[in-house]
Amino acid sequence: MKCVICKSEDIELKKVDEEIKFENDIILVPIEVLVCNNCSERYYERKTIQQLESIKERIEKKEIPVENIGKILRPKVAYKLRQIVHTAALVNQLSRELAV
Ligand SMILES: [Zn+2]
Repeated sequence: MKCVICKSEDIELKKVDEEIKFENDIILVPIEVLVCNNCSERYYERKTIQQLESIKERIEKKEIPVENIGKILRPKVAYKLRQIVHTAALVNQLSRELAV
C-alpha cells in the first residue's frame, strides 16, 4: 500500500489516540490504525470509523465512563494572539514583496 499523500510505502499498523470532540472536551480513544511513518497520515477502515461513532454515542449517553487526565488551555490575553496574526501577515507580505 502507498500513502496517497506522500507516496511512501512505509505504512504500518499502530496504536494511536484518536481525538473525539465532545462539547468543550476532547476524549482520547485508543485505536489501532494504519499510519504513514513519513507524513503521519492515518488510514481508517470503515469498521474503525463505525466503532468510533458508536463509542462517541455511548460516551454521550454516559454509557462509557471517562476520566479527567488533564486540561486543554489557551492564552487568556487576546491581544497577544492578534500580535501573532499581525506578525504572520507581515511575514507573508514581506515574502510576497521579495518574490516580485
Ligand atoms: Zn505519507
